[in-house]
Amino acid sequence: MTHPDDDPEMISFELICPECGVSNPENAEYCLVCERDLRNTLLFLEDDSFDLEITSDSVIEYRKNFWGTSRTGKVIKYPLSEISNLEFGSPITRFKFDFNGKRHVIPLKNENMKSLKQVLNKILD
Ligand SMILES: [Zn+2]
Repeated sequence: MTHPDDDPEMISFELICPECGVSNPENAEYCLVCERDLRNTLLFLEDDSFDLEITSDSVIEYRKNFWGTSRTGKVIKYPLSEISNLEFGSPITRFKFDFNGKRHVIPLKNENMKSLKQVLNKILD
């Protein structure tokens, strides 16, 4: 996958590995540290109660414990083809969508909501 506005001179370490949390170059194929496959990871967000991974075909939620210090091991995958009615709540930042006939709500930090909105709007356009 190449994008016409890719600038090979600019390497930004903006892709956080969903597995170990290390920042990788945006176009990294595998994590520099744990070698997790990052080819399908478009965005990874660390938030208070959830970590969210966005791939080209799904939103993956990694639930965290009450204190937000570690993951509970609960992972929910929402295929983009099966979610609808996206709402990026503002000023209260809650990401809402319909999936499996149910409304899902994921509270996110403001800055995370912005990145999520950008990426999902691009994929779902
Ligand atoms: Zn890693």
